[in-house]
Amino acid sequence: MNDPDCIFCKIIAGEIPSSKVYEDETLFAFKDIQPVAPVHILIVPKKHIPGVNEFSPEDEPIAGKLFSAARKIAADQGVAGDGYRLVVNTGKHGRQSVDHLHLHLIGGKRLEVSLG
Ligand code: AMP
Repeated sequence: MNDPDCIFCKIIAGEIPSSKVYEDETLFAFKDIQPVAPVHILIVPKKHIPGVNEFSPEDEPIAGKLFSAARKIAADQGVAGDGYRLVVNTGKHGRQSVDHLHLHLIGGKRLEVSLG
């Protein structure tokens, strides 16, 4: 495990249960425990990167894989056609609550306009 105090590292390690929807050598994806829409998936790198501010040039391949996984998961979840929202919250003002980089994939209904 990358960070023994990180809840998402524990989920990736199988120490905390989750509803997994996707996994490969780089990424792990599971249903958000407090969904804000019919489809709400968190896609996380297996590497413990606390957030965008800690994302380094050597991590750049992970960003591409996150988008490719989002496309695949959106299709698998049946929301690709009608669309969806991808969100990365960062820091206090961004209301990031778990310090392990993650991409929210939110869809299954027409979302609110407001992002702020
Ligand atoms: P953020 O606020 O962007 O850091 O998002 C963290 C997300 O993690 C929130 O939407 C939480 O509902 C979700 N979350 C926290 N703990 C768990 C868990 N054990 N299983 C699934 N989702 C979780």
